[in-house]
Amino acid sequence: MNYAIANFKMNKTSDEVEEYVCELRQNLKNNVKTVICPSFVSLERAVKASFGSLIDIGAQNLFFEEKGAFTGEISIGMLENIGVKYAIIGHSERRQYFKESDDLLLKKVKAAANRLKVIYCFGETEEEKDSGKSLEVTFNQLNLVKSFFEKIILAYEPVWAIGTGKTANAGESFALIKELESKLGSLPDCLYGGSVNHKNAKSFIDAGFKGVLVGSASLDVKEFSKIIEEMS
Ligand code: 13P
Repeated sequence: MNYAIANFKMNKTSDEVEEYVCELRQNLKNNVKTVICPSFVSLERAVKASFGSLIDIGAQNLFFEEKGAFTGEISIGMLENIGVKYAIIGHSERRQYFKESDDLLLKKVKAAANRLKVIYCFGETEEEKDSGKSLEVTFNQLNLVKSFFEKIILAYEPVWAIGTGKTANAGESFALIKELESKLGSLPDCLYGGSVNHKNAKSFIDAGFKGVLVGSASLDVKEFSKIIEEMS
């Protein structure tokens, strides 16, 4: 079964998320695992709006401690309690803007892997790509969480393709995944993310990816419905 996962990032109010989920639930495919990741404040309403449908709800982040004096953070238990099933960890925007280190990401994956379905993001920057370091960088990002491979899914998101309209070539991207697989043993299901839309989505499935992680194009429910169709 392929995945269509929407990462709303810091977009949409709770009212907008509820309206979106209510519309999307009319347009699902039985053979596509559909996950919506809105902001923390919209999660509970999204779970309620998706109740009884094939949609699962995911968080865009979490903290590894269960409770305590960590102002502004959200625990795994809090997410489980409202019915959240998935969590994105290691998104490049968290790594880049919020300086999330390997050490922190490992703690998050370790805490979450048995409790939520973790979507672990990895990918090289433009500079790293241009200096021929894509394999080395992505290998290190994956090697970090190798002991959790049986419990997580992956999303390859080349940083230079995120929000830029510059989609990576599907065949070349999957060739990198194959190379990583041969170096690391086996890999979990891997999705592609970075300027995906309904026109290019299928090329990633054809190349071997197990689905897509969609930012901007997921914000329009009609466009995301078309992407779901492409995954089926
Ligand atoms: P865009 O689809 O806007 O490029 O974002 C991709 C992404 O970062 C999904 O997590």
